[in-house]
Amino acid sequence: MFDSARIVDSSVVDQASRVHAAFFASKSGDAYNIDIHSFLDGATGGSAHQWAATLANSFRRTVRAMGRRFIDATAIMLIDTIVETAHDTLSLLKDSDELEGNVPVVRDFVNGLLDTGYVDQLTQAVGLLALPLAGRPHDSAHGIEHTRQEALFQALLLLRMFLDVRLRYAPLISVSHGLLSALGATAGLNLVPDVKELVQYFLNGVLQPALTNPQIVSALAQDMSDSTQRLNQYRQSTFQPQFDALIAGIERQRLRVPRWMVKADRPDRVCDGLQCIVVGEKRRFRQCTGCNYRLYCSVPCQRSDWTTGNHRNTCRAYLSLSTELTALTSPSTRSFLRFMMNEDYLRDHAGSAAGGSPPNIAMFDYRGGYRAESGNTVRYVDCFTEPVTVSAPGLSGPHEALEADYVQRTARDAEVGVGWNICIVRYMGSESDSYSSLTFVHRILRKAIVSPFNAATSG
Ligand SMILES: [Zn+2]
Ligand SMILES: [Zn+2]
Repeated sequence: MFDSARIVDSSVVDQASRVHAAFFASKSGDAYNIDIHSFLDGATGGSAHQWAATLANSFRRTVRAMGRRFIDATAIMLIDTIVETAHDTLSLLKDSDELEGNVPVVRDFVNGLLDTGYVDQLTQAVGLLALPLAGRPHDSAHGIEHTRQEALFQALLLLRMFLDVRLRYAPLISVSHGLLSALGATAGLNLVPDVKELVQYFLNGVLQPALTNPQIVSALAQDMSDSTQRLNQYRQSTFQPQFDALIAGIERQRLRVPRWMVKADRPDRVCDGLQCIVVGEKRRFRQCTGCNYRLYCSVPCQRSDWTTGNHRNTCRAYLSLSTELTALTSPSTRSFLRFMMNEDYLRDHAGSAAGGSPPNIAMFDYRGGYRAESGNTVRYVDCFTEPVTVSAPGLSGPHEALEADYVQRTARDAEVGVGWNICIVRYMGSESDSYSSLTFVHRILRKAIVSPFNAATSG
């Protein structure tokens, strides 16, 4: 059972409480009237990183002191204070006029919270906040419940802010072991609309699209088997359909991870030269230095692609594609995606490969975080029998310029038995703070569909 007396005396929590009280008192509307420099000086002697460590430390003490069967009013208040203090510090650092352009201080604070495990504690805190209320004193039960929902809201909001910052892979990988079960436990509560919306966001906007990252898939799968009981609290909640879909997605993807790990070194690239069918490992190819996207087996291939293949007019469009891919996906995600595309292609065409020519364009839509199984979101175009048209929903801006290139190139490639796999993936977030913003990326792979695809080297 949680013994709040053990931590109420803690000077660290006291400090956070005092600071948060100061934040609260100085706040009018959305603005704070606190000088951030003197605040950091007073709190820790000047460093945003140190202040982050202080908060993480108080968080750890609070979380550790919990009995994990019930939660009481004091514990809820402590968690709320520590979360709100971090949240207010971050807002203050971001908003402060005098610090405008002084990104390092914000980064210092965020890195401090990451380095010291604060973000992991945050996920744990979400799970703890979903525990049954201890004692349920009849008079104040409503008040406690209100504070609990407020604390949940703050914790999820802060987590969302971490995932929105540039270093979002790291935070998501570090919290994904625990996040699913924490959300499952939370879903079992009677949530207020604001919290509901955030839970929804994490399920559909964060976790589902993250199923293209092998580390996150593994962490979620681990969380599922470690915390079945907490996770299962989502049943009979309004979130049941989303959880069911997410869990099915995790189950499907977790089986792929070991296969992906074994196949990681397979030669699986086809030279991007005009109608070239040389297959090899990526590192053996030359990369177009303009776009970092096209790969060539030789100088002649690179040259003829530039001129006859019209790459000089599409290089810029591929650069934007490549920049987007790199910004939004980790290297392991890109490798995993490549593996998924190949595997899905092979599975869908295991039969047709023996009987005839497989289609040379396959389009995969991974916007749900896994390949959609029905509807028109997955399309295969067989340009041996059909005129080639490629149009990918979700492509816009610079990607439109690439469509014309697909049409031209895929038709020529069909003649030599080279196919294209195109996939669309959804990613959450962007530079903006709006958590409803989603970004679509797509990836193109040229594949030799005639010989290597049908042989064991499917890579
Ligand atoms: Zn070549
Ligand atoms: Zn290029």
